[in-house]
Amino acid sequence: MSDVRVRFAPSPTGYLHIGSLRTALYNYIYAKQKKGKFIIRIEDTDRSRLVETAIENLIQSLAWAGIEHDEGVFIDPNSDNTIQKGEHGPYIQSERLDIYNRYIKHLLEGNQAYYCFCSKERIEKVREQLKEKGETPRYDGHCKNLDKEEVKQRLDCNEQHVIRLKLPEEKDISFYDTVRGNVTINTRDMDDQVLMKADGFPTYHFAVVVDDHLMEITHVVRGEEWLTSTPKHVYLFEAFGWKAPQYIHLPTVLNNDKKKLSKRQGDVAVGDFMKKGYLPEAMVNYLALVGWSPEDNRELFTMEELVKHFSFERVSKTGGVFDVDKLNWINGQY
Ligand code: GLU
Ligand code: ZN
Repeated sequence: MSDVRVRFAPSPTGYLHIGSLRTALYNYIYAKQKKGKFIIRIEDTDRSRLVETAIENLIQSLAWAGIEHDEGVFIDPNSDNTIQKGEHGPYIQSERLDIYNRYIKHLLEGNQAYYCFCSKERIEKVREQLKEKGETPRYDGHCKNLDKEEVKQRLDCNEQHVIRLKLPEEKDISFYDTVRGNVTINTRDMDDQVLMKADGFPTYHFAVVVDDHLMEITHVVRGEEWLTSTPKHVYLFEAFGWKAPQYIHLPTVLNNDKKKLSKRQGDVAVGDFMKKGYLPEAMVNYLALVGWSPEDNRELFTMEELVKHFSFERVSKTGGVFDVDKLNWINGQY
């Protein structure tokens, strides 16, 4: 056993698609290779985008692909596919609100976060004005230095509010990404990120940091669409005095025309391939090669062989093309 702990953290906003299956696969392979643990966490804090049965679908799709997890949510096929909670947890973010409340309190008390009472309209206007001036649209810090008494009164009156991160005016935030190398951004180009929303749920950015810390995640392996959010996360880790995990951002899975994989060009849901009778071994073999290249030109790998040969050092910086013809060819080899 090693200390390596990775997680796949889908939002249940739709059925599992090919790109996410690859993310889960790389996490799983890495955990196996390092004899670590693979965790599944459900990120359902955006209450407006939930899709019913998405959790069941994604766990079934992973099980089909032979991707088993050590901790997280499970479904019991013997009891009508009900969701079972793993032994540690909870691993569903909507069931962890007391935890986020505790940690936001800590930031508020340390003057590292603040209540913001601005209306959506005001914030829109501020952003528009900045845009017109050719500047990056962001929140203007209007509520950053509100008087404590005033805040208390407005909270007592149940005035609608969010809680924002208080960023220093100028500070370089740096981290090293295994695929991308060094990334540095200055806080003057960042927004005072909303951490707690008006509905009482944390934002993704806040929950992801608290949970990656509490779940002792050592390596965060996810799609590169999250690369620009990572400085916010790294800053939050620092604000709490916690050690940030190693980040590994994977190149986007693309269509043949080099655009982001989308439904318009064909099947993207794992379930579609399952229904069509593709072999899970072939899907896993093929997906591993979308974005990772082995040392030789070999194309056929079992899961065990992937575990043996895979490395993040050989994951490409540029998007990987998902080519159905290639998948079909590999499927024919099994
Ligand atoms: N919940 C995010 C998603 O649906 C996960 C991002 C992450 O892995 O940090 O893609
Ligand atoms: Zn405000």
